[in-house]
Amino acid sequence: MQFRALPFKCPSCGSYMVYQIGSYHLVCSSCKSTKAIDAQVYVRAKEPVFSEIEPNGILKTVDCPGCGADIEFKEFELSKNCPYCSNPLVTKPVNPKPPYSILPFAIDKESAREIFKKWLGSLWFAPGSLKKLLDFEHKFKPLYAPYFSFDAKTFTRYSGYRGDAYYVEVEKVVYINGREQVVRELERRINWTYVSGTTGRDFYDILVNANSKLPEILHSIRSYDLNRLMLFNPSFLSGFESFEYDRELKNCYSETKEYIKSVVYSDVLYSIGGDEQRVESISTSYSNEVFETTMLPVWISSFEHKGKRYDIAINGVTGEITGERPYSYIKIFAFIAAIFLILLVLMYYDDITSEVIDTHLKVGPMP
Ligand SMILES: [Zn+2]
Ligand SMILES: [Zn+2]
Repeated sequence: MQFRALPFKCPSCGSYMVYQIGSYHLVCSSCKSTKAIDAQVYVRAKEPVFSEIEPNGILKTVDCPGCGADIEFKEFELSKNCPYCSNPLVTKPVNPKPPYSILPFAIDKESAREIFKKWLGSLWFAPGSLKKLLDFEHKFKPLYAPYFSFDAKTFTRYSGYRGDAYYVEVEKVVYINGREQVVRELERRINWTYVSGTTGRDFYDILVNANSKLPEILHSIRSYDLNRLMLFNPSFLSGFESFEYDRELKNCYSETKEYIKSVVYSDVLYSIGGDEQRVESISTSYSNEVFETTMLPVWISSFEHKGKRYDIAINGVTGEITGERPYSYIKIFAFIAAIFLILLVLMYYDDITSEVIDTHLKVGPMP
């Protein structure tokens, strides 16, 4: 389907403008003049999870306003730059629920490079070739990823047993040098008491990466301050790659519920108390199950090492970095060998010292 790119033209020179990280402005790629974005603070407005929203995969062909080329978009791709002239190509969202909000980038290329360099320098036992594989300039790209953000209130009734430990002295038969002997030992026992009760917990802003094609590592980038969300405005996407959700809302919510259940289970164990717990029944009721769609910024990169793919992600607001990395077994082996060698030297030295002490003893005054 043919799509038009949203226009981001510089009023001074007619060249294209891109979002300037850390600001609420567009900046001209040519004359560097700036233009304010009509940025509005997003007032949280979540919807019930039960609304059916199926992703709408459309293959877009976008007419580049810079060079006139027809640019193919991948399914659910929302924006990218023209591969021929770098003109930003931002399209209209096609999913039934467009992004409600967006968290604009705060970490620019310079800061991301510094964070990455620091991380790379902190890696122990990394193969020497890693630094070559990870060329920041060519590998890292800024991206807006689609997320669902869920809230839910829970109320749980439970029953089970609280176990309190106590110790009793018992006699045990042991064999020492083949002879039977009776020794006294403390043995741990549990006193179980039946308990039942209730516990409640409200969950807010549980984030789930809503695009299955994006790297798994995005699941570990979650610590965004969602109080700083802005109302979705495509100007923030100008110059950046972005995607819409391709996952079904109900699947993402099921995933969230598994997480909620695990937290509730820990709450129940805590509430039962004692040294050990046995859970007999848990029944949780949910209310206020709501969601919203949002777009969050991340710098991502990946590299291949010995046929395996590794992903790295930097939170585009906090700068938190998460990375998968290979280990150099040669370096680990060399490290262990070095420790072994040091131990050997120490033992040798220790032997000499004892000999010296022995000698001293021998030459000492006779009793
Ligand atoms: Zn300009
Ligand atoms: Zn172009």
